[in-house]
Amino acid sequence: MVDQAQIDALRHLPVPPKGHLIDGVVCAAENGRTLDVISPLNGSVLTTIAAGTRADADRAVASARAAFEDGRWRRMPPQQRKKIMLKWADLIDKEALELAVLGIRDNGTEIGMALRAEPGSASGTLRYYAECIDKLYGEIAPTASEFLGLVHHEPVGVVAAIVPWNFPLMIGTWKLGPALAVGNSVVMKPSEMASLTLLRIAELALEAGMPPGVFNVVTGEGAEVGAALAESMDVDVIVFTGSGGTGRRLLQASAASNLKRCYLELGGKSANIVFADAPNLKDAAKVSAAGIFRNSGQVCVAGSRLLVERSIHDAFVEELAKAASAMKIGDPLDLGTGAGAINNAAQLDRNLEFVATAQAEGGKVVQGGKRILAETGGYFMEPTIVTNVAPGHTLAQNEVFGPVLAVTAFDTEEDAVRLANSTEFGLAGGVWTSDLSRAHRMIHAMRTGVVHVNTYGGPDVTVPMGGTKQSGNGHDKSLHAFDKFMNLKTAWIKL
Ligand code: NAD
Repeated sequence: MVDQAQIDALRHLPVPPKGHLIDGVVCAAENGRTLDVISPLNGSVLTTIAAGTRADADRAVASARAAFEDGRWRRMPPQQRKKIMLKWADLIDKEALELAVLGIRDNGTEIGMALRAEPGSASGTLRYYAECIDKLYGEIAPTASEFLGLVHHEPVGVVAAIVPWNFPLMIGTWKLGPALAVGNSVVMKPSEMASLTLLRIAELALEAGMPPGVFNVVTGEGAEVGAALAESMDVDVIVFTGSGGTGRRLLQASAASNLKRCYLELGGKSANIVFADAPNLKDAAKVSAAGIFRNSGQVCVAGSRLLVERSIHDAFVEELAKAASAMKIGDPLDLGTGAGAINNAAQLDRNLEFVATAQAEGGKVVQGGKRILAETGGYFMEPTIVTNVAPGHTLAQNEVFGPVLAVTAFDTEEDAVRLANSTEFGLAGGVWTSDLSRAHRMIHAMRTGVVHVNTYGGPDVTVPMGGTKQSGNGHDKSLHAFDKFMNLKTAWIKL
């Protein structure tokens, strides 16, 4: 158990300027430029990171390629690779609190969530994939007896992983775990809004014995470093989590370069559907509030659209508002905080603009809607509930990625399905009902990658996580994640 004094001892530690980690060496950007890291807790400069250039990205790719070609990692005995990855997970656990606090100062997530979802989830994910290393077998095909057909699974080569700012360690290790376990080399491009913890775990990988060049981190802006990776002729696979706009650019860059495979995990506008026969409406309201307001709504699967059966609409919204107003918003390093800061000033402005547009289009703000704690210099916003949102409204169709819930009433199950599927997204959703048959009907009817029933959020690494429609095409987590990082090779032998 962590106590407040342990957190407070870390919260003001100076953070030295950070460089890239390329070929096992910490280095500055080729032109010496840096980017300020602004802490969302108070708006002040926490430290700097290297403002990577195309040349830096190319150097990291060359380092990853060299590591892959000489086999220093992929040809290492599987048990040895496994040992190193397990040791890496242990080192992350040992430093969990330091990593969580550093990450919070960089991205604003509340401490309870950060401890669980960042270092805690990262080490668990690395262990899960490390344990698989010596359990992956090839195949012998059922051919005619004069032939032998072998199916090998080979690492693809150089993987570029581009990740967002909301959960850098959790999402980062969803890519790193399976990619590294099967012997690839990786160049990671963290968000310029949250790079510090990924840089630190890359150092820990070296300490655990991972050879230099196998896991490189290049920091900087997406349009520079990310674009260079996407356009590279020497990157074999891109795994990406972020916005749809960037996802589209990656596909274009792939088409214009070497047709590298792109796996995209994009945004969502997930419908959380509450029927009048939900088992316990109070619990449903509490869990639904957490499902949109935790991490200030900066969660890709957040239940950001509440579809609620008309007969319980008013009572349910009232419960939800109670749960939202009971949530303490503020200092994310305080153990009592329910939701921390918005990651950056531009995102805060964007959230507020969505609220203003929703009101202009006829939505009614029944809870929150404003920036708070501005005197701290930090970026904090009230959990916000907007009712009367029609399916065509801006707030019903667009991802806010903030603590703003759109509420729409429905009358029938068919109505609920039609509304749920009425956006371009298909990431996640929720259904609250006591009727088992209805729950199964809804699971099949909802065009999403994940459906929660009588709960919202929380599945672990054993199940896939990913979307359909314009929420993307690549699944993270579970054994299915390996498919992205391996090529199939057939050997056909005449006996
Ligand atoms: P973003 O697309 O702006 O940035 C994501 C990453 O892409 C960052 O590292 C950024 O530097 C990089 N990037 C930006 N422009 C680029 C370019 N032209 N070429 C290459 N790389 C570029 O997204 P964000 O604002 O960091 O994250 C929020 C988005 O991520 C939301 O839409 C959210 O739903 C989505 N998200 C999805 C999931 C999921 O699993 N589906 C999880 C978390 C976040």
